[in-house]
Amino acid sequence: MNLSLDGKVAIVTGAGQGLGETIARTLATAGAHVVVDDLNPDRAERVAKKILSAGGQAIAVAADVSSKFQCVKLVEAARIEWGRLDILVNNAGIEPVSPILKLDEWDWDRCIDVNLKGTFLMSQLCGRVMAEENQERGGIIVNISSIAGVESPLMHRAAYCASKAGIVGFARECAREFAPYGIRVNTIVPGVFETPMTENARQNPEIMARWKREIPLDRLGYPQEIADVVLFLCSPGSSYMTGSTITVDGGKVMR
Ligand code: NAP
Repeated sequence: MNLSLDGKVAIVTGAGQGLGETIARTLATAGAHVVVDDLNPDRAERVAKKILSAGGQAIAVAADVSSKFQCVKLVEAARIEWGRLDILVNNAGIEPVSPILKLDEWDWDRCIDVNLKGTFLMSQLCGRVMAEENQERGGIIVNISSIAGVESPLMHRAAYCASKAGIVGFARECAREFAPYGIRVNTIVPGVFETPMTENARQNPEIMARWKREIPLDRLGYPQEIADVVLFLCSPGSSYMTGSTITVDGGKVMR
């Protein structure tokens, strides 16, 4: 199977650490020129430098995906640097923790703004560029949802669950509307992965024991196991896939 992304230009949001970092580095290793976005400029720079020192191509951009103005800056950075845009990975996400009865309205809004509105803003802006400029080659959008939004609600993370369910619904309609332009849109639904986002929970032996009971493969996922699926979805190997929702969770939510 051809997994080469030679000459393609990709934006990965929230790529300063965790899944996004591994996704950015994997796409770069496959030959893509990568715009490494993160809210935190130092983290974005650190990842872009790692890609460059491994012989890849990358630039760092600090942009908040919940801001339309900053999303425009992010998309323009790709076009100014390399003159094209082929791939968008909507990975940036936050996870406020609170029972619903105490959930602050600001935390709800922020979570929906980053996770769901950010996915909409970036898909719309990149979709416009891909539809107008990529008439022969189309484009690829990969979204990162969560089992929390689909099959397995997460305790005290109502805003997160709602935002991640929203991504799945949005992505399906996005796939339908973008198909005439040759833009494929697919969504990955991760289970539990070893990243900074799950670090606190991983320190808790009770939570770890429960996860291990619930996951037939008997371990958490490694970031590379998401990045490899992203790479497949960005490659010609998945050319007949769009509007798909792909669970990668060690069997946690199978029925
Ligand atoms: P992570 O370790 O917390 O990394 C997320 C990155 O996104 C951070 O560097 C964060 O920067 C950045 N970010 C946050 N808000 C942003 C914004 N508004 N604009 C741009 N960047 C922003 O998370 P992760 O575990 O790698 O998760 C990546 C994605 O996978 C998320 O969408 C998450 O919901 C999803 N996911 C993760 C798991 C898991 O088990 N890890 C499971 C299911 C789904 P700051 O730290 O500075 O905010």
